[in-house]
Amino acid sequence: MLAGKVAIITGAARGIGREMAARFVNQGARVVVADLYNAAETAGELSNETQTLGLTVDVAKVRSINEMVDITIKTFGKVDILVNNAGICPTTPLGEITEEEWDKVLAVNLKSAFFCTQAVAEVMKGQQYGRIINISSFAGRAGGIAPGCHYSASKAGIIGLTKALARILAPYNITVNAIAPGTLASEMTKNFPEAKMEEILAGIPLRKLGQPWYIAEMAVYLASEAAEWITGTTIDINGGMYMA
Ligand code: NAD
Repeated sequence: MLAGKVAIITGAARGIGREMAARFVNQGARVVVADLYNAAETAGELSNETQTLGLTVDVAKVRSINEMVDITIKTFGKVDILVNNAGICPTTPLGEITEEEWDKVLAVNLKSAFFCTQAVAEVMKGQQYGRIINISSFAGRAGGIAPGCHYSASKAGIIGLTKALARILAPYNITVNAIAPGTLASEMTKNFPEAKMEEILAGIPLRKLGQPWYIAEMAVYLASEAAEWITGTTIDINGGMYMA
């Protein structure tokens, strides 16, 4: 489905990002595994250097983002797919969120998606082809049950950013979509308080937590040519905990 395509996936060293990278590799894409930690190790585990490239990147820093895109072009010659997946999810209560923590969450989760898109936009416009996928959250749709409100705000911002970019980039045959996962059984959520997890589970009609591969499968589809008429949308994958 993705043969010949070049993809950058941020936050690809574990969780949803790693699951997406593995599936993109299986579908024939060349994949840049971009992460703050373990990028090269993960790239090596997923395939060989003709198909994967591990880059240590801090998506909260625009210079680091621009270097990532420059190296991708030098190595693979183009960028067809960008997945803005890297994220952090503090559960800090309202009264304890500092200005510094607010800025960090917004930088990693939202600012990054804009500047990664800006960095690939000219290349994709030149190709007259691009697929951009942003990872939002149930928390951005309905407010988080366990995550802090800075997290919910950043993920709601992703939904608005997705629509704005979809309009701007549509004339160049570049689609921009978001996926909003509900609560998954994953590293990110394993430290959520037990009582919150019980509340979350009680609110999921399908009565189980999600798996990272549920999200990765949708990302493969949105990244493929089959999804050519889908843009500006946010796809909810959440066991029914939020129905748009
Ligand atoms: P995870 O914590 O397992 O993985 C996130 C990855 O992002 C890690 O490898 C981490 O090193 C990387 N990362 C963090 N800060 C970074 C930075 N500044 N620069 C580069 N990389 C950085 O989380 P996950 O569960 O795989 O979540 C992936 C995405 O899905 C996130 O955007 C998250 O908010 C979203 N999401 C997750 C869930 C869930 O239940 N796990 C639910 C909804 C949305």
